[in-house]
Amino acid sequence: MGECIFCRIADGKIPAAKVYEDDSTISFLDIMPANKGHCLVVPKKHYETLLDIPDEDLKNLITVTKKVVKALSLSIGNGSYNLVMNNGKEAGQLVAHAHIHIIPRFKSDRLRIKWSHKKYTDKEMKDVQEKIKKFV
Ligand code: 5GP
Ligand code: ZN
Repeated sequence: MGECIFCRIADGKIPAAKVYEDDSTISFLDIMPANKGHCLVVPKKHYETLLDIPDEDLKNLITVTKKVVKALSLSIGNGSYNLVMNNGKEAGQLVAHAHIHIIPRFKSDRLRIKWSHKKYTDKEMKDVQEKIKKFV
């Protein structure tokens, strides 16, 4: 994983503005923030997407996310934020090392994270529901 930018940050080989670090997880400022204070929370081991992360590391990842959310909210005096995790190319994942974005939100910041809403017929909704349930 020598070429992976987040592995190199986790190894301390390239610098990042770290806000938290423990044995399994690291959090640092996104270098091109959606808003100032935008943090990334990253497992130190190289996993590509959510489904690759073992449950124990995932628990640590979400616990650290909560910790950083609290600190970020206190630091900006505002408790509004989006959590975003892009998984896979079609979802806009550019760095192939799993990470959670914490994006603080401000009144009138004009960020567009909301999507337009599509519709189901009753039958479509039932079909989709049944398909998913088969795999759960
Ligand atoms: P993705 O689209 O993969 O979910 O987001 C990757 C994020 O990583 C982007 O928001 C980008 O700004 C950030 N990023 C990419 N390279 C670096 C880097 O070298 N350092 C830091 N701190 N952030 C980075
Ligand atoms: Zn990596």
